[in-house]
Amino acid sequence: MTIIGIDLGTTNSACGVWRDGAVHLIPNRHGDKLTPSVVGFDAGGELIVGKTAQNRLITHPRDTVATFKRLMGTKHRIEVSKTSFTATELSAAVLRSLKEDAEAFLGEPVSEAIISVPAYFNDNQRHATKQAGEIAGMKVQRLINEPTAAALAYGLHDKPEGVFVVLDMGGGTFDVSVIEYFDGVMEVHASAGDNYLGGEDFLEAMVERFLADRKIERAGLDKGALQVLFDAMERAKRAIGRSPAPRVAIELAGTAHDVEITEPWFRDAVAGLLLRVRAPIEQALRDARIPLADIADVLLVGGATRMAVFRNAAGKLFGRIPSSYLDPDLVVAMGATVQAGLKARDSSLDDVVLTDVCPYTLGTEVVDPAGSGKPGFFLPLIERNSVVPTSRVERLFTVADKQARMQVNVFQGENRMVERNVFLGEIDVTVPKRKAGEESIDVRFSYDMNGLLEVDVKVNSSGETINKVIQQAPGALSDDEMARSRQRLAALKFHPREREENLQLLSQGERLYLTHLGDTRAAIGDALAAFEAVLDRQRDSEIGRARDELKAFLDRFDGDLLP
Ligand code: ADP
Ligand code: MG
Repeated sequence: MTIIGIDLGTTNSACGVWRDGAVHLIPNRHGDKLTPSVVGFDAGGELIVGKTAQNRLITHPRDTVATFKRLMGTKHRIEVSKTSFTATELSAAVLRSLKEDAEAFLGEPVSEAIISVPAYFNDNQRHATKQAGEIAGMKVQRLINEPTAAALAYGLHDKPEGVFVVLDMGGGTFDVSVIEYFDGVMEVHASAGDNYLGGEDFLEAMVERFLADRKIERAGLDKGALQVLFDAMERAKRAIGRSPAPRVAIELAGTAHDVEITEPWFRDAVAGLLLRVRAPIEQALRDARIPLADIADVLLVGGATRMAVFRNAAGKLFGRIPSSYLDPDLVVAMGATVQAGLKARDSSLDDVVLTDVCPYTLGTEVVDPAGSGKPGFFLPLIERNSVVPTSRVERLFTVADKQARMQVNVFQGENRMVERNVFLGEIDVTVPKRKAGEESIDVRFSYDMNGLLEVDVKVNSSGETINKVIQQAPGALSDDEMARSRQRLAALKFHPREREENLQLLSQGERLYLTHLGDTRAAIGDALAAFEAVLDRQRDSEIGRARDELKAFLDRFDGDLLP
């Protein structure tokens, strides 16, 4: 019974195992610790995940998908190779790939996992994540908030006592958490975030500004040209501030462009995004009621926090230089792995206890508390940022004479009116017909460590009780749907691991062919053709040598993007 810790990211995923009192991050089939969260199908209809699929995003856009984590917990269907999938199923494919890599690395079956989720994930999204793990064939022992995982990874390194703030900016999301570590207990005081602010948005802003500067219509560019631009900008984004300044030298629609990506240009292009960094930080600090002066440390998590503009913005807001001594892309996976170690009751972790908070306010619908009799008002039961597990009970009375039914509508959100909050579920209760206000029910909300909500209703006059775990949240899968998803995934054939290295090289070559021109393109084309000829001859020793040569050749063009 091996349990692994998983960071299921929007852009990249990673996993690890707790062994001999330490975190061991697990390399995937390509030897990388990060696996791009990209899923696709190859020509033979076999499933491919990670770097190979990522290469094929541009060469085979209809057969490949990315950033589906943003659709977790919705019924939205995503088309890949003429088949439609939910984000949960696609995430399950990523998880299954991680599970296989872990099993190959550990030499034993992996049956359980701890998976991290953004602190801002709502109930539906958490359910979907748990279900994805189960579809992939792992029992999800616990979900852990990403910033909490990060704190756990940092906390174990030097155990600073005090309040600290975790800033996590990945590819698509920005999460802020205020955490206290005291006497061996880690407690999240507050979390806030922006689900649409990440490194990819900075990239998008760079591309938009470049096109505007040059008066180029985006619609007029073919997908190859656009990808060339995105690739060049991504390289530049990672090199900004270096000397000499990175250049973007490309040809678009027959015109050559050669521009220096300077820090002022970049700062200006992303100014709107940088402004949005502030609000979630302020909200988290306000909710935690922690003055700036009491913060012991600010921790940076997520690949996008490598950007100097982000570090400077964070530094200014907090009046100090943030810490980033752990690899920001891997901190969350490290923390999830520590949690996996905790779960397995590793004795070296005995002194660490973890508490967490509920990211949204949960409540029920009531009539106007001011007495107008109008329905549709929100009564919070569990306030945002309450420490979990938590449980609260509220007594509700009938409002009409001979009222026979009381409906408990469950909502999540921060609005006074329920219509502007997210509907999670309902419970119908029958009560004896009496005068208004003579019958009452006790509604109890219990929110557990996994972020799952349980509602208990008790009719006080009869003692009857009804219990409901909020499962039927919109977007969550029913048991039948789960079984179907599991069958669908089981029926999909994964591209064989041992042949994936070849496919990965070909996909990298095809991408580079698409994004280069002239002599370079011809040389890439020749190298690919030569490699295909070697593959056709099926002699293993020859294939191995040719693979090494092709890899070295292709990596020359991808150099800056490699970790
Ligand atoms: P997620 O949590 O969304 O899966 P990650 O934490 O892996 O994402 O971060 C991915 C983002 O980090 C991407 O947008 C990527 O461009 C950005 N990134 C990675 N390395 C760097 C770097 N050296 N400089 C700037 N941005 C980077
Ligand atoms: Mg992340």
